[in-house]
Amino acid sequence: MTPGTGDAERPAVVIRSGSTEEVSIIGGGIQGVTAALALAERGIRSRILERGERILRGASYRNEGKVHLGFVYALDNTGATARRMVEGALTFSDLIESWCGEVDWASNCSEGFDYCVVDAGLADSDALGRHYEEVASMIEAASSELGDNYLGSSARVEPVRHHGSHPLLAGDLSGDWFSTPERSVDPRALCDWLTRAIASNPLVEVDTGVVVNGVEPNGSGFSLEIGSGAGPYVIEADTVLNCSWENRLELDRQALGEAPTACYRIKHQVLARGATTVELVPITLVQGPYGDLVPWPNGDIYVSWYPAARTFIGDTPSAGTDPDRGVAEATLEGLAEIIPSLEGLEVVDFGGAWIVGEGSVDIDEADSGLHARRAAEVDQRGGWWSVNGGKLTTAPLASELCVAELTGTEPRVSIPDPETFR
Ligand SMILES: Cc1cc2nc3c(=O)[nH]c(=O)nc-3n(C[C@H](O)[C@H](O)[C@H](O)COP(=O)(O)OP(=O)(O)OC[C@H]3O[C@@H](n4cnc5c(N)ncnc54)[C@H](O)[C@@H]3O)c2cc1C
Repeated sequence: MTPGTGDAERPAVVIRSGSTEEVSIIGGGIQGVTAALALAERGIRSRILERGERILRGASYRNEGKVHLGFVYALDNTGATARRMVEGALTFSDLIESWCGEVDWASNCSEGFDYCVVDAGLADSDALGRHYEEVASMIEAASSELGDNYLGSSARVEPVRHHGSHPLLAGDLSGDWFSTPERSVDPRALCDWLTRAIASNPLVEVDTGVVVNGVEPNGSGFSLEIGSGAGPYVIEADTVLNCSWENRLELDRQALGEAPTACYRIKHQVLARGATTVELVPITLVQGPYGDLVPWPNGDIYVSWYPAARTFIGDTPSAGTDPDRGVAEATLEGLAEIIPSLEGLEVVDFGGAWIVGEGSVDIDEADSGLHARRAAEVDQRGGWWSVNGGKLTTAPLASELCVAELTGTEPRVSIPDPETFR
């Protein structure tokens, strides 16, 4: 595909990409990339349109890598979010391996998270203990249908309640803590596996440095208005998968005439390194706007302190995600006040990315829509497939279910009553 030259007002070249033989995918994050791999597995060609210089450098790269088992969604009293996370988590590894081949989970995953209850938080230790038991039952029930390959290990391990403050936490900040089987995969390793799988797949083309600026229905399909270094052009496409994360709903609005609202946040990924006198373990502080600690096997330590790392919240994605050393240092300092063993670590890498969720109120409020996630949601009309994985955890499952529906084939994984399609 060679974009033509032309003035910025009028696209100069119209490229007929669209046939049912080739699907246009907007966005080369985990959502778009796994959709392309799921299509290729069924013999269908696709073209990923990615505005960045490389695929897999957005939220899918700049995250914590936690493959959620639902423990953190204690404030969704319906249990629906936890159940969706369990489904995503128990299908995650099998799907990734079906597309990438065998991968080394052990060398790239954290140990199990300890959930530490902050006394001033939005739920107490008893309430959280009950939620964790419910999650364990969900995992037990779901694993009989979905199997038990959770990052190359088992998720069927009962959470254990420990009375008193966690040994890594300062003073008497926390109530009880719970050890859990939940773990995190280093997202950079995951992105490497996926990038290699795409590069070696003859059915997937990747165009980088191209931005889908707009979309118009054209009767039989959609005209995608493309901006590129070589000038603007248009792709006429019969079938489009919209996997553009923070731009997804705006493009949906143009393609479908309507789209729901969302909450857009920027959160920064901060990685630190250095020697500590005690062994660090993965920690999630609950329940509210606190933080996380994830030591990965390669020596990088992910630190998150929500009041510093979350730099934007609004109803449109209208801010920049540029790396900001001040934010990164403040994030490490904020978490080090709670976990003093982090003092002396050095920030080694950082960068911001979007989180798209529901509602408009931040997570310090118990009734915030952000305490729940609709996962694996696909809005489909007339060749336009808008895919919202919701989380890293649920993105592979969303792609697999969407592509199975699009191609009229059986999904590799069978979810009882998925609430996926609108
Ligand atoms: C700091 C942080 C921590 C997180 N931690 C976790 C976690 O522990 N567990 C978890 O499950 N989830 C986590 N998440 C959420 C998770 O990262 C996202 O749900 C997931 O990565 C979204 O994948 P995606 O492919 O939809 O988006 P992205 O990876 O952002 O990919 C979208 C791609 O689309 C491209 N694009 C956008 N608009 C256009 C356009 N108009 N034209 C062309 N290309 C376009 C972008 O450049 C980008 O490459 C976290 C997110 C952040 C920011």
